[in-house]
Amino acid sequence: MQNLLHNLNPEQLAAVTLPAQHALILAGAGSGKTRVLTTRIAWLIQTQQVSPPGILAVTFTNKAAKEMLTRLSAMLPINTRGMWIGTFHGLCNRLLRTHYRDAALPQTFQILDSQDQLSVIKRLLKANNIDDEKFPPKTVMYFINNAKDQGLRATDVEAYDAHERKMVELYQLYDDQCQREGVVDFAELLLRTYELLSRNQPLREHYQARFRHILVDEFQDTNNLQYNWLKLLAGHGSRDGGALFAVGDDDQSIYAFRGANVGNMSAFEHEFQVKNLIKLEQNYRSHGHILDSANVLIANNSKRLGKNLRTDAGHGEQVRVYEASSDLQEAQWIIEEAKSLIADGASRSEIAILYRSNAQSRVIEHALFSAAIPYHVYGGQRYFQRAEVKHAIAYLQLMDNPHNDSAFLRVVNFPTRGIGMRSIEQLQAASEQYGISLYASVPYVAGKAGSVLAGFVKLIEGVRFETQQLSLPEMVRVVLEASTLLQHYQNEKEGADRIENLEQMVSAASQFISEEGFGQGAPAHLGPAAQAQSGAPVVNQDGIEILDADAPLPAVMSPLSAFLSHASLEAGDNQAQAGQDALQMMTVHSAKGLEFDNVFITGLEEGLFPHESSSKEDNGVEEERRLMYVAITRARKRLYMSFSQTRMLHGQTRYNMKSRFFDELPEESLKWLSPKVQANWFGNRKSAWDEAPRVASLGSDNAIAQKIAQKATGGGWRIGESVAHAKFGEGVIVNIEGGGGNARAQINFGQHGMKVLDLGIAKLERL
Ligand code: ATP
Ligand code: MG
Repeated sequence: MQNLLHNLNPEQLAAVTLPAQHALILAGAGSGKTRVLTTRIAWLIQTQQVSPPGILAVTFTNKAAKEMLTRLSAMLPINTRGMWIGTFHGLCNRLLRTHYRDAALPQTFQILDSQDQLSVIKRLLKANNIDDEKFPPKTVMYFINNAKDQGLRATDVEAYDAHERKMVELYQLYDDQCQREGVVDFAELLLRTYELLSRNQPLREHYQARFRHILVDEFQDTNNLQYNWLKLLAGHGSRDGGALFAVGDDDQSIYAFRGANVGNMSAFEHEFQVKNLIKLEQNYRSHGHILDSANVLIANNSKRLGKNLRTDAGHGEQVRVYEASSDLQEAQWIIEEAKSLIADGASRSEIAILYRSNAQSRVIEHALFSAAIPYHVYGGQRYFQRAEVKHAIAYLQLMDNPHNDSAFLRVVNFPTRGIGMRSIEQLQAASEQYGISLYASVPYVAGKAGSVLAGFVKLIEGVRFETQQLSLPEMVRVVLEASTLLQHYQNEKEGADRIENLEQMVSAASQFISEEGFGQGAPAHLGPAAQAQSGAPVVNQDGIEILDADAPLPAVMSPLSAFLSHASLEAGDNQAQAGQDALQMMTVHSAKGLEFDNVFITGLEEGLFPHESSSKEDNGVEEERRLMYVAITRARKRLYMSFSQTRMLHGQTRYNMKSRFFDELPEESLKWLSPKVQANWFGNRKSAWDEAPRVASLGSDNAIAQKIAQKATGGGWRIGESVAHAKFGEGVIVNIEGGGGNARAQINFGQHGMKVLDLGIAKLERL
């Protein structure tokens, strides 16, 4: 038997071997929280305190769940397939598939990713003649998801004015529409499961009795609904619920914008009367300078539960900080540094480039591409979100559930088959009138439109019939052909990539079924109902249909349904995937939980990181600081930080001040690298921050300088000039409008944000 407990420090050991009681492990980044959680599962099983089906573990991403299963298999001689280890969404999907009848869902319900959800909302607004300027689809979506995350149905939301009443009405219409189509969005997966368990006592008690140990990673980022879900499953308030073991780091709470509530940590401690509170303070990931930077930075936050990190790893190298004159130059610098890391033997996959917003990646990508360095971008468009892949998925969705209107609309006329807007409108009218899906409404459309639409239905029915006995990969192949998607892209000029992506879906399907334990030859359509004929459904003493816990997806879903769920859930995951010897590029959010030898944090500028949106929200800057803490703590050996005086973003050149975070980092841990050329266009300073260290000024970029020189106006003020204002402090003029006595300047005051000041009135001082 493997000794699972060696290599743990005393606090980790204590946490892993706690008795079966509620526990909170509160610890900083890289202190082994995830390792403790995984080891505890293995230890509980090895010491026979629980059998694998008695464990429920929640991770933040599908990838983290997979990794946990792999590690468990390495530690224990058991088959981990079928263990309840997954994301909230994944676990809820599984529960709903098993109990779809009780949850009032069709057996083949499908999951909407956010893109699909938005398109349902847009359609709804249109069908109800609602002004989408007054009710922007994204705002409506946010409203609905937010309500769901709080556990509220439309009938539970209190509206205070006409606008809100309309929002609530839309929420209700949206839910009705989804129910009709047999689709659920991400938030619905959770809410529906929560309602199912809270209303159905025997079912609830069944699962409460079953899951003796519930373990949650990244607990600081749970939202209210997720916390209540956990409370329900852990039988909070009842005597015989399981033990809830939560690990988290309040300093890494970075999803408040999605409803995460870091208050859940103290709520948990309080409501569950947690007696086992363990802090881990030894960091095993990062060298000293990196860790000091993280500690000193995060100390600027006020609301903290309080803990620190230390390391035995030695100081290591200082954090290298670079000021670039432009984003192009920043990218160039990253490439030079990355090249020298690689020349020193670093593997490319151990180099991560992090940024605050996806929009920043393009310039860096371009530079990497030109330098012929392989790289991988995450969090951007994922495989299952690509247009061509979504088209193919839509055809597959229609095979499984033709009443999914989003899927129907996506491909009814793609590739084009002469179905125009008019026909669709007629179809929508019929669907409204009879309250049925678009697919079911086809017979109600008369004339030529009707017969063209009927042709589409015939295509879908035909393929469904043809693929009945085929395995999933074979079915995918037939669908790609029969839908004429492949043919369509063959005729397209730049279709080669798309065809390759589509072809890849056959292997994705094949890989999926072998990973999930479906037989390679198992017919794609064959669902649990059919399987039940050969093996009786598993029913517990209360007559509740449950699945055999060791039998994974095949027991509850057909290969096709399972694959479609996987595609939606995967599209919703915003975390990086490891592997590939390529440079890893991702947003800071996606880097959560990961670690790399070498990390670049780029675009450290006021307005970008901290993001400008943060200044509008309470605690916004604190959340940005936590995000910066997450970024810093991803690095094991070397950390690089950069910022740029000018940056093209969303088609505009921005003039930036360096991030306030630089002022919050320990000076002795930083090594400032002098910019190479700093002949400033309106001065001759060697380095922008030699003389004006707190204010970024314009760099040497000639084209920009010229452009600005042309725009410079009277009054002596110039774009790019550093100024000081009595109230707002130091800033940089980023734009001047008007002239003479009416001239107004837009000034970036860094911490005080962007202001527009009347140059005739404002008392500005030249710096
Ligand atoms: P994060 O907050 O970023 O999620 P974490 O607290 O979950 O971090 P882990 O990812 O579990 O930390 O561990 C960080 C690194 O330290 C991993 O590489 C892990 O293998 C290693 N580690 C953890 N505990 C020990 C230990 N006792 N001895 C040696 N290495 C350890
Ligand atoms: Mg972790």
